[in-house]
Amino acid sequence: MLKEPIFFTVGPTKLYPTVKKHILNALKENISSISHRSEKFINIFKEVVSNLKKLLNIPADYEVFFLSSATEAMERIIENTVEKNSFHLVSGDFGHRFFQIASDLKKQALYYQINPNILLEKQKFTLPKKTELITITQNETSIGYAFDPKIIYQIKSNNPDKLIAVDIVSSSPYINLDFKRVDLVFFSVQKGFGLPAGLSVLIISPQAFEKSVFLNKKNKLYLSYHNFLELKKYALKNQTPETPNVLALYLLNAVIKDFLKIGIEKIRKKTEKKAKMIYDFLEKSDIFEPYVKIPSSQSKTTIVAQLKNGKKNDLILEKLKKQGLYLSKGYKNFSQTHLRIANFPAHNFSEIKQLISFLKVI
Ligand SMILES: *Cc1c(COP(=O)(O)O)cnc(C)c1O
Repeated sequence: MLKEPIFFTVGPTKLYPTVKKHILNALKENISSISHRSEKFINIFKEVVSNLKKLLNIPADYEVFFLSSATEAMERIIENTVEKNSFHLVSGDFGHRFFQIASDLKKQALYYQINPNILLEKQKFTLPKKTELITITQNETSIGYAFDPKIIYQIKSNNPDKLIAVDIVSSSPYINLDFKRVDLVFFSVQKGFGLPAGLSVLIISPQAFEKSVFLNKKNKLYLSYHNFLELKKYALKNQTPETPNVLALYLLNAVIKDFLKIGIEKIRKKTEKKAKMIYDFLEKSDIFEPYVKIPSSQSKTTIVAQLKNGKKNDLILEKLKKQGLYLSKGYKNFSQTHLRIANFPAHNFSEIKQLISFLKVI
């Protein structure tokens, strides 16, 4: 008999447990029929921005914009902050996507390939002087690699004139980022926030916004409907330029309020405890090992297990599914040799224990 599925997939993933209730409330409140220019919408917008700023400790003078996906956020960042030169620190496929988007938009994009199993401090890259934007994937979901925020801050303080964009798609709200030391930060909601996909959040510093003003003055800004000037003009009215995913915004606000009630510190500690359980198991296993070896580079939220001796994952994934346990296979080149396990706020201790005890006897 098939068991009730638990999604440990890295995104979309298990819904946060309160989401069902929030969806029912949204239906009762006719959220999907209200106008995006109405008082009711304006209140949802105001609340979600202020609650998010509280949850993640975002400075008051940073702008919060709503887009459709993290991939869109990458594209808008390039369009709005780069005239010619961008530089991308790449440890896996999502970091590479950022570089690819910049190249597709005809920028002089360069990247440095990070080796996930060498200490980051020992990997030396030189930033070309002309670099306008540096992009960093703080949590690389494709391989389970975490980029140390301290090094992000170092890069910024050594290059105060350059903008830094940080992808926290699969580490937020776990990652405690000092927003004052970065410029453009984004995530989408189908990962750590345990929500249906179709909404992303982009947070930008005054310096990043100024860059788009500067490009506009030079006639170098893409005047798409989601350019920063347009987004800010509407954000000042607590609105979006287009008809947004109002239900998603409502649900995001509701889940953030749940997180605030629990307390973000507690959520972060719990994430670390669950991650330790999984890594402890992987270190001792005869079949699996962590793909990323250096503890400080191991992601706490998207954990990647490699099968030892080049074994294939298909039978294991099949057996897990029969137990109702859904994991992600490896990304691209690693599709058959890795398992990816999400450890988000939606995943509780007993589910992690269940997964580990099954992996032990597989
Ligand atoms: C999932 C993911 C993305 C892409 O998110 P979309 O919302 O599908 O565009 C980008 N970066 C990272 C690190 C991700 O995990």
